[in-house]
Amino acid sequence: MGGDLLDIDSARDQVLERAAPLPAQSVPLAEAIARTLAEPVISEERVPGFDNSAMDGYAIRAEDVREASRERPAMLRPAGESRAGAAAEATLGAGQAIAISTGAVIPAGADTVVRVEDTERREGEVAVLVPSQPGANVRRAGEDIESGDAVLAEGTTLGPAEIGVLASIGRAGVSCHRAPTVTVLSTGDELVGVEESLGEGNVRNSNSYALSALARASGSGEVRTERVGDDRGATVAAVERGLRSDVLVACGGVSVGAHDHVKAAFDELGVAQVFWGVSLKPGKPAWFGARGETLVFGLPGNPVSAYVTFLLLARPALLALQGADPTRARTEATLTGEYSKPTDRAHAVRCRLELAPSGWLATPAPDQGSHVMTSLLAADALALIPASTEWVGAGERVTIELLP
Ligand code: AMP
Ligand code: MG
Repeated sequence: MGGDLLDIDSARDQVLERAAPLPAQSVPLAEAIARTLAEPVISEERVPGFDNSAMDGYAIRAEDVREASRERPAMLRPAGESRAGAAAEATLGAGQAIAISTGAVIPAGADTVVRVEDTERREGEVAVLVPSQPGANVRRAGEDIESGDAVLAEGTTLGPAEIGVLASIGRAGVSCHRAPTVTVLSTGDELVGVEESLGEGNVRNSNSYALSALARASGSGEVRTERVGDDRGATVAAVERGLRSDVLVACGGVSVGAHDHVKAAFDELGVAQVFWGVSLKPGKPAWFGARGETLVFGLPGNPVSAYVTFLLLARPALLALQGADPTRARTEATLTGEYSKPTDRAHAVRCRLELAPSGWLATPAPDQGSHVMTSLLAADALALIPASTEWVGAGERVTIELLP
């Protein structure tokens, strides 16, 4: 980490260059939520599968009720029933009406459904009180999806709607990229877990929880966590275990302190450095490298720095490994107040977002200290202020990265 810090976009590009989508695997539909498709989905079924009724009422021929009105209803003879799941046996003839339920098959010979509210039963006959058009209240076969339609594109991340549509076309499983496994390795003699008692100088290991939650919220598969003290041998052993994951995220111990062993451990285990030091506040000491296919991040220990660098560097990698679009969290907003800074590094400013008629408004959190984790609570996005910018006026547009 010399004088020449890498700008954050180049850093991200260098990460993404090494984050090719993981191989595809077949995933049962019920487990496919949040996974990303490795191939397009072409429907082999049509939806609806058959012409069916949109209403409870009577299947009829529109021409039989052309002149119908409340004063002079068209009188039709009942001719059986078509229920959901059980089609009418008979064909509808002229002057007949077949009772029909919502979703039931339109009987042969019928072209229209008249709502039950627009009919009356009179002396064993069906009085139709309104005229109708052919096709009224009929949902056509294939109206939504035709057999052969490309329903979902490769690279689509599956949400509840996608899962429902896949079920509607009878897909029991889908081909998705494997979800990356992650190890979060926290380092520091001062760290204690959430259930341990706090001694003099101890700090809660919050990064372990925050970063593994971020990993899960970014679609990771198995996420394991480990904690290690500031000890060279123990750090090497822990890093070696972590290298079995697709992504190893170490935090703390990555600077130049006498008790920082993480980089030496990476080096000893043959993890090749891609960069160390990013022109970013918070998050300057961020380190990135790889060994084989495993991507390795050494993030700063300060909780906000760790969180921000995870979001800007590790999360895009996790998305790309799943075959998802890592740029989908990028957009623009209008800054509500002015922001000034030195021109040395880019700033990632924690902001609250509000939707105005003119678009997103971003308001910086009052305390931007890299140890003030509560500043993340109200943060919806990070506004990215370039290194060379000294001042952004209220009302100016800024690039933002949405938080998950
Ligand atoms: P380091 O990067 O190891 O120099 O740590 C920088 C600061 O972050 C120190 O105040 C550490 O106590 C704190 N820190 C490091 N790791 C963690 C962690 N896992 N959880 C919370 N704070 C941490
Ligand atoms: Mg430390």
